[in-house]
Amino acid sequence: MKIDLNKLDDDLGGDWFHHIHASSFGFLMKLGGIKNYEVEKDDIIIHKEIMEETNFPTIKYNVITDKGSHIADKNEVKEILGKSLVDYVKKNKKLPFACKLKKFFKNGAAQIDYNPSQYEKFPIKILPKDHGISDLEEFFKDLKSEQVNPAKPQKEDKESGVKQWEIASSSDKSKVYTVTQKGDGSFTCTCPQFVFRKKVCKHISECKS
Ligand SMILES: [Zn+2]
Repeated sequence: MKIDLNKLDDDLGGDWFHHIHASSFGFLMKLGGIKNYEVEKDDIIIHKEIMEETNFPTIKYNVITDKGSHIADKNEVKEILGKSLVDYVKKNKKLPFACKLKKFFKNGAAQIDYNPSQYEKFPIKILPKDHGISDLEEFFKDLKSEQVNPAKPQKEDKESGVKQWEIASSSDKSKVYTVTQKGDGSFTCTCPQFVFRKKVCKHISECKS
């Protein structure tokens, strides 16, 4: 469904939004088409604004519902992501994009960190009883995680033919690199291997395939 992000009822202005896709854990930093923006139920829209006389942005989380949206605190966001995460693992047999298994607790709970950007960090706690899974260590055993950000910008630059992908670093899930394919078909990446050594990196190889 489509919503007008300018009409979110969260008392913030401006058009500084991020979008978490609940079904895929795709993450968008820059949104286009804000008046007519495509969302799905349980998606999270993060709205930010720097208010006067402050240095840090005020952040509001808006959860998409059947009828529109409502404001949620970070705990509710983590709960929604936890439910989506379990559904995703059952369906895909891997961890979603930007997710990393952090630890297991003595009571059988598990913590997965979803860090889609340097500033957006969601430690998600999964409790066995909430999901009807008796053994979470078994449930999360040997899972790889999705490396490519599945979220696609809604506005593609068709004129220049430029395409971009966001890829999580495999060693540090809190780092995300951007691979760009220019109009002439050549690739660049923002990772150190490409920037400093000008070598084709695994992020570019992944986008080519
Ligand atoms: Zn790279």
